[in-house]
Amino acid sequence: MNNHYKFINTPLPYSYDAMEPYIDAKTMWLHHEKHLQTYIDNLNNTLSEYPQFQNWTLEELITNIPSLPKKIQTSIKNNGGGVFNHQFYFSNLANPALPHPTGMLSDAIKKEFDSYSSFKNLFKAAALSVFGSGYAWLVVNAAGQLSIITTQNQDTPLQLGMFPILNIDVWEHAYYLKHYNLRSDYINDWFNVINWNNANQNYMRCFDINI
Ligand code: MN
Repeated sequence: MNNHYKFINTPLPYSYDAMEPYIDAKTMWLHHEKHLQTYIDNLNNTLSEYPQFQNWTLEELITNIPSLPKKIQTSIKNNGGGVFNHQFYFSNLANPALPHPTGMLSDAIKKEFDSYSSFKNLFKAAALSVFGSGYAWLVVNAAGQLSIITTQNQDTPLQLGMFPILNIDVWEHAYYLKHYNLRSDYINDWFNVINWNNANQNYMRCFDINI
């Protein structure tokens, strides 16, 4: 993935039916080919008139929104955030998946939440609590601790000075075709397709540990 203008929608590292039966192929196709593509197109359109920001990375744009021209702040927040959040979401899916966290992240989850089981309960409750559209996240906060947070719309933890480890998209487009209005069922299914190796890499990268 190129990480500055002009952003392109690179293929997923798996097929659209790879998350079956937990996330259906049609949802994955629509989500990647239509929803993510629209955020990418809108972000590129916004940046097309601002060559001074065309070599900025996605992360640089998102973490510096207050210093961008007023006219493009909302678009960068919504569309830049939309690109970041979706790429993050798709990168954290795998099927078959490991049944539980791995490596340093596994130890940290046990330390912070007592057990993987209690983490799941807390994470699910957070994902269910998002009113309207948004995400639940496992992040490392400014104090270096694991924390579960939610964000609205396409806001990101980057804007809050937090480092993302794992996210679930709970916009209805992420599950409505298969799970209808039952977000709880979608969350239960999603727990079966978490890419724990990738999440552990995110965690280690956060502490500058190379693997
Ligand atoms: Mn989405």
